[in-house]
Amino acid sequence: MARVYNFSAGPSMLPESVLHQAAEEMLDYNGTGQSVMEMSHRSKAYEPIIYGANDLFRKVLNVPDNYKIIFCQGGASTQFAAIPLNFMNGSGKADYVLSGQFSTKAYKEACKFGDVKAVASSKEQNFSCIPEIDKSECRADADYFYICENNTIYGTKFWNLPDTGNVPLISDVSSCFLSEPMDVSKYGVIYGGAQKNVAPAGLTVVIAREDLLGNVRENAPVMLDYKTLADNDSMYNTPPCWSIYMCKLVLEWIESIGGLEAMKARNQKKCSILYDFLDNSKMFNNPVKKSDRSMMNVTFVTESDELNAKFVADAAAAGFVNLKGHRSVGGMRASIYNAMPIEGVEKLVDFMGEFEKNN
Ligand SMILES: *Cc1c(COP(=O)(O)O)cnc(C)c1O
Repeated sequence: MARVYNFSAGPSMLPESVLHQAAEEMLDYNGTGQSVMEMSHRSKAYEPIIYGANDLFRKVLNVPDNYKIIFCQGGASTQFAAIPLNFMNGSGKADYVLSGQFSTKAYKEACKFGDVKAVASSKEQNFSCIPEIDKSECRADADYFYICENNTIYGTKFWNLPDTGNVPLISDVSSCFLSEPMDVSKYGVIYGGAQKNVAPAGLTVVIAREDLLGNVRENAPVMLDYKTLADNDSMYNTPPCWSIYMCKLVLEWIESIGGLEAMKARNQKKCSILYDFLDNSKMFNNPVKKSDRSMMNVTFVTESDELNAKFVADAAAAGFVNLKGHRSVGGMRASIYNAMPIEGVEKLVDFMGEFEKNN
């Protein structure tokens, strides 16, 4: 069996031990004679899976008691509409930071629902940095302040959260979920699609401060009402049962390697190997402002599109797949989420060194 090193931005690698366990349990989960895929979400066998995943999420991420953890569907993109429907219901205003494509999409979606302001943008820098936020642009009566914390496509990250005062901070953490410890109490809401770091596609995790729930717009679809989903323990309708099971296995794996502190140390090591190489290379260059570099998505380019294409093709032939950058930016991107082993990054850097020598 030849496994490749998969640098895809998402869906992405899962820990090998998790895949093995899922394979072992595929036909007979815990003596039930069924696969988790075949199980009623209301069954006795499934209950410990969904409640266990929820409890473990709370434990691993240290989520305070006054926050609800909601397992839902629709991906991060569905939440772009659910967020204004649930939370933009006081002044009807919300402030957004445009730091890349996903925050811009979220902003455009929110504009359908109220008075939405882009208070900062790094579009003119081609999203190669996190924009400076001029506090005088921000509105004290906004219902929330929105950021995309890790910009998957451009490889940037908010290393310092904006100070939003009493305005709840809402953050899209799709591509940095569970990559390091977070102080959840600093946020009103964090959320993300699972397929980057948490589980296979199909699951979206929303963590919301309880006092912010319950003000959803009357005409909002019930499936987008976070309070209804939370009150029904994420089982208002059929949840993404299999992805939640996989999420639980991934959380158990994170615990087994020492929790999020250990995860962060591992992730820092991986990105340092890659950034150190890029900083010393004469062929490859990381186009991002140094202080804003992402730990999860590392972008790099050579001088020419031809050389970029050759690199992507040669790398794939050598077992390093999905290194092509997002279609909107070109170049290369190595997504090195939790499940990417350190060895994968070391070998990639060796390969890049060889490529540089030969081309
Ligand atoms: C991938 C991604 C999205 C889109 O997620 P979907 O689940 O495909 O809707 C949104 N935001 C960020 C930061 C992402 O990385």
